Amino acid sequence: MALPRPPRPDPPMMGRVLVLTLVFGVLTFALLSARLWQLQMVRHGELEGKAIDQQTREVTATARRGTIFDRNGEELAVSASAQNVVLSPRDLLALVPQGEGATPQARQADRRRKLEETWDRLAPALADLLDTDEASIRRRLEKTNSAWEVLARKVEEGTADGVRTFVEENGLSGCLTLTADTRRYYPQGSLACHAIGFVNGEDRGAYGLEAAFDGDLAGENGKVLTAKNAAGTEMPQPYTGYADGLDGCDLHLTLDAGIQRFAEKALEEGVQKYDALHGGFCIVIEPKTGALLALASYPGYDLNHPLDIADRGTADRLDRLARDPSVDEDSYGRAKAQAQFVQWSSKYLNTAYEPGSTFKPIVMSAALEEGAVTPEDRFHCAGVVNVGGWPIRCSKRTGHGTQTLQEALMNSCNPAHIAIGQRLGAEKFYAYWKAFGFPDKTGVELPGESGSRFWPAEDFLSPNGLTSLATASFGQRFLVTPMQMAAALSAVVNGGHLMEPYLVASVTGPDGTVLRSHPPKEVRRVISQGTSDTVRGFMEQVVAAGTGKNAAVAGYRIGGKTGSSQTGETDHTIVSFAGFAPADDPAFLVLLAYDWPRPAAPGSTLTAGGVTISGGFMAAPMAGELIANILDYLGYEKEGGAQVSLPDVVGEPPAQARAELAELGLEARLLGEGTVVTEQVPAPGTAMPAGGSVALTLGDQAPDQLDADRAAFLSLKRFVDEREVSS
Ligand SMILES: [Zn+2]
Repeated sequence: MALPRPPRPDPPMMGRVLVLTLVFGVLTFALLSARLWQLQMVRHGELEGKAIDQQTREVTATARRGTIFDRNGEELAVSASAQNVVLSPRDLLALVPQGEGATPQARQADRRRKLEETWDRLAPALADLLDTDEASIRRRLEKTNSAWEVLARKVEEGTADGVRTFVEENGLSGCLTLTADTRRYYPQGSLACHAIGFVNGEDRGAYGLEAAFDGDLAGENGKVLTAKNAAGTEMPQPYTGYADGLDGCDLHLTLDAGIQRFAEKALEEGVQKYDALHGGFCIVIEPKTGALLALASYPGYDLNHPLDIADRGTADRLDRLARDPSVDEDSYGRAKAQAQFVQWSSKYLNTAYEPGSTFKPIVMSAALEEGAVTPEDRFHCAGVVNVGGWPIRCSKRTGHGTQTLQEALMNSCNPAHIAIGQRLGAEKFYAYWKAFGFPDKTGVELPGESGSRFWPAEDFLSPNGLTSLATASFGQRFLVTPMQMAAALSAVVNGGHLMEPYLVASVTGPDGTVLRSHPPKEVRRVISQGTSDTVRGFMEQVVAAGTGKNAAVAGYRIGGKTGSSQTGETDHTIVSFAGFAPADDPAFLVLLAYDWPRPAAPGSTLTAGGVTISGGFMAAPMAGELIANILDYLGYEKEGGAQVSLPDVVGEPPAQARAELAELGLEARLLGEGTVVTEQVPAPGTAMPAGGSVALTLGDQAPDQLDADRAAFLSLKRFVDEREVSS
């Protein structure tokens, strides 16, 4: 049986290949020439008058940048359609009539005169229309070799309409055109500015989430399609599908705009009240999940005008520089760029700080977890302790005397914490430093995360590391980022889980499909539930009766820790408070700090307003109010909040008395047996918190004496009422 012969290419097939090759070649050529042609069109601006309407009104395919929503669906960053105003000076030149005159030179001069007349007429009118300076418009008009001068970017619809009218009235078809674009708006102005960030002139993310999620938000570039539409319907067919725009994806944040507003208010009020020279920061985080509810840094800026310096003091300083004849343009430019960089950087992520005593609960957690200390241990403070030949003082110069572990935290006692650190030992201290995540970046989605600075391990663990261990035990002489602190303290109070802080809950496509979501992510387990419960309980006592008592708000269970850290710079203190609520089951944790409250005089520990420069006196009261606001906002019932006036139920049957009290949110405790209430404690008219209980003594008959007393009381009341009416 003969094997089949390998097929040979037959002439017709060769022909098909040739034809296909040719077709592809032609197509490729067509694509290239189409693009060339399109560019030529744009460059020459040879558009019919009505093309302006076409390209400005019918072009809707420009990619819409995605929206950034807060966790309740409030819009934080949105894109709206806008127009660019484009001038073709070359086409304008073509519109100018020929010059008149006897000689070519005369005709040329006449034409030049007519052209200049046109410029003189158009420049001020356009400057007025586009709200820009005349000189710059004039310079563009004079570029007669150019066909593409963008006079204004992203103008709003009102201005675009003005341009259309202007084009019609002045017969400028083809010279002045509008191209579709989108414009980024930040409806909340400066709210959460450092986290949201902003876009550059090309609508690409420049800072914050706008930069970090640019790939998701931007969508497919629709600009080529815009240009194609500008050329009208005569585009060759192969080109049509080339530039299908695709809208950007939306971001859904964990951030809560309501909580963010409270946080920014607390931050700004404190900065002003204490005249904090370097502003401050505030983080609100869900300890159980790591979801960030608010991220505030002061000073902020207006996202709709990110280039403007928002901080008044800095803006004034720049103004003075601008007016100073001895300051050249370059120096001014550098100063302004520096000021912009500062205002765009967040203090909660892009910088590190010395945490001070807010670090003590972390040290205590480690020591308890390792069994190096127990709640029953006692610590003595004489006001000063000698470590490696160095005297280290306690904030209380006379000393705290003998304290329990809890009291050591309540007093924020330095010698006690040095002792706790020493019992833990440098090696384990360092192990917990690592476990709580301080050598690592937190991984939050924002760009520019700063890092911590700690002693090199070989130094810290060496015998010479004794003083390092001592100062580290009360949170000084090293740097961490506020974000790292918020995550570590969350682990202290949430049962020991170090959670990764995150800001973007999900990314959804233009059709609403969830493309990615961020479930809570545990980095590692750091301490046990028992240790966490113990330290969390201690921290509640810090607020109830310790250095954090200024954060206490009646009716709420709040836990926390104060911090005041000297930075090494003269008189530069960072005062802070880390607090959480409800203390028994924290729904959120707040880390609030003011950087450099101005002392009344050099070396003074008081502000001009007489406030002691410390976390307990500055950050704690502001944080307490903030925490109460957030609790109210989240709908937490205030314990003992609403007061009710106790009614008189003496003489009533117990069921009726109980029902009457229950209606007021009060609980009846019945004492004895009987058919009527013979006595009630507290007495009628007493103001009581809802949820309180009333003791009712039962008997078979209300005592006569009580009735007599009551009758006497009522007649006295009538007497008083009547006197008040008559007087
Ligand atoms: Zn002490």
